[in-house]
Amino acid sequence: MLPFKLIYSDGYYLPIGAHVFPAEKYRRIHDQLLAEGVAEANDFLEPEPATDEDILLVHKPEYVFKLVTGRLTPHEEMEMEIPYSRDLADAFWLAAGGSILAARQALADGVGISIGGGFHHAFPDHGEGFCMIHDVAVAIRRLQRDGKIRTAMTVDCDVHQGNGTATIFAGAQAESDPLPSAGPATRSSSPANSALRGRMRGAQARDVFTISLHQHNNYPLWKPPSSIDVDLPDGIGDDDYLAWLDNALSSGLRHFEPDLLCYLAGADPYKEDQLGGLSLTIEGLKKRDELVFRVARARNIPVMVTYAGGYAQKVEDTVTIHCNTVIAAKEVLSAT
Ligand SMILES: [Zn+2]
Repeated sequence: MLPFKLIYSDGYYLPIGAHVFPAEKYRRIHDQLLAEGVAEANDFLEPEPATDEDILLVHKPEYVFKLVTGRLTPHEEMEMEIPYSRDLADAFWLAAGGSILAARQALADGVGISIGGGFHHAFPDHGEGFCMIHDVAVAIRRLQRDGKIRTAMTVDCDVHQGNGTATIFAGAQAESDPLPSAGPATRSSSPANSALRGRMRGAQARDVFTISLHQHNNYPLWKPPSSIDVDLPDGIGDDDYLAWLDNALSSGLRHFEPDLLCYLAGADPYKEDQLGGLSLTIEGLKKRDELVFRVARARNIPVMVTYAGGYAQKVEDTVTIHCNTVIAAKEVLSAT
């Protein structure tokens, strides 16, 4: 039995037809965790959908009304890049409920993993990039409203920048000077061409500190400032990525002490991802997960996990990367 809970429902499936987003991945992760003996049936908890009141903690009433009544404009539906249906809206309400439960479980057990969620491109007033509702933001605001947490930190390792997260939790308007510790650029012996190096920049945070590590030359074109953005060059591999992540985590935790860390464990920095341009291996991605869990564990910060993107040419690779996140959490928790 795992020392933490996995949050899952068959209702996480997104009814979007043939699509680059592998909507069946959630069920496949669930099945593989059981088949490989990583988890047992009683390690899983079934979430309830978030209430409309929960959703309204983050999203504008006009947008929520459109989603509930099916009145998105064709432009809004196109921007979301997934076909609207009432069933699809239900799946997003359930994902938000799953993230709320995962966050509560993280406070109880140190870690809580939702086998879903991580819809970081959803904005208060519209959806984008396969994301309708920002489940992680809803979970943070709900736990704050309940007085369970005061502050949170998002650590977004999806290959795409967390533009919805940055907007929802935007701090001071002005972008601050680049952080003094400019990452592990000295590790790289590549030509002194700054375009080939990563870049770390930051803005001030209020009650939620946002970190995003992403490929610079990728969606979204407009990247609203997170508290720390690490703009990674195309094609970087495991070692450079891990050094940047380590650096971003230490910088973030020097500036901010969160009551909860929300880790978005996107599988799309993988070298064979169809929508990503980094070169991480499956082993490197597991090390990434271990690093996040280890750093949080050392500081006694509870971690809630959501899965965000993953578009590997072979769906089984995406499933394996996501299953490895559970294994990494198990290993780190049992080692300490
Ligand atoms: Zn992504």
